[in-house]
Amino acid sequence: MRKLSLLLPIGFLAYLLFLVIMNESPMERFQRTSVFVHFINTSVWTIILTSSIQFYLKYNRQKQLGGASLIYFILAIASATLLLNELYMLIYSLNSSYQVLDKGGFFSLPVPWIASKLLVTVGGLSIIYLYIQGRIDKIAFQSSTDELTKLPNRRTLENLFKSELSRSKRHKIAMSCAMIDIDYFKKFNDTYGHQTGDYVLQQVAIIMDNGKRAHDVVARYGGEEFIWLLISSEFEDSYFACERLRKEIESTEFEFNDKALSITVSIGVSSFHGEGETTVNSLIYNADRSLYEAKEAGRNKTISFKESDSE
Ligand code: GH3
Ligand code: MG
Ligand code: MG
Repeated sequence: MRKLSLLLPIGFLAYLLFLVIMNESPMERFQRTSVFVHFINTSVWTIILTSSIQFYLKYNRQKQLGGASLIYFILAIASATLLLNELYMLIYSLNSSYQVLDKGGFFSLPVPWIASKLLVTVGGLSIIYLYIQGRIDKIAFQSSTDELTKLPNRRTLENLFKSELSRSKRHKIAMSCAMIDIDYFKKFNDTYGHQTGDYVLQQVAIIMDNGKRAHDVVARYGGEEFIWLLISSEFEDSYFACERLRKEIESTEFEFNDKALSITVSIGVSSFHGEGETTVNSLIYNADRSLYEAKEAGRNKTISFKESDSE
């Protein structure tokens, strides 16, 4: 695609060269140029129309970016209108150019002229394609990632959680869900300032992301709450993994503005044992209950949810 986009300047040069060589009257040149321009415009609006419809459908279906689907809807309507207009102008100018140039129809038009139009069109379309692809990647990244920590956000976590849980059920493999909440973080912010709090959140995210196994998921679930999905990890293993993380965070000194700071976290863990019925919501709910217990028991603790906890 990148190479194809080079065809745009090449096509333009070819077209200019053609005009010079042909040495036609100003009227003939005008006719050629207007067909050329409307031809390109028509292609451009066609691709903008099709991609905006594609985006509209995509964002509308995923219920992502409420605003974005509306923008693409408006863009689709606008580009459809402009496309109709350009099509009309193209036919109109083709028709009048036959009359002026009168060379006996489209196929008798000089080959270099048509070739240069095609080059410009293919080149132009590849540039638009590249631009749109870049935008999609950026929007997809922004809508799935938490801006501060660059971890997956809550919506992404919920989607990943659903697919991981159904995979675990299918293969009868255990998995666990740990909910991690920073202790007394409101007080930390009040004491050291929000900026320091943000920095610590980023650092905690890095520690968790580095500590997890490759196929695990760590996401920012809310303000100072994170969820860690431990894939193929049994109840006990998960507890020890969480304890290791808790101790690592406890012993880390975060340096910010020449101050050494430390925090602790409380963790609640729930597990799916590879068999039986459970849902994403109940695993999160149970992890949250255990987290609450850990807080009640004095914080800086990991507590696993046991089936006997539930009535
Ligand atoms: P607990 O030990 O019970 O969890 O107490 P806590 O103070 O951590 O919990 P609480 O829910 O009362 O407060 C959470 C605090 O987290 C409040 C808010 O200032 C802070 N917080 C949430 N999101 C952010 C953020 O993005 N940046 C910063 N700096 N602070 C945040
Ligand atoms: Mg909290
Ligand atoms: Mg907290």
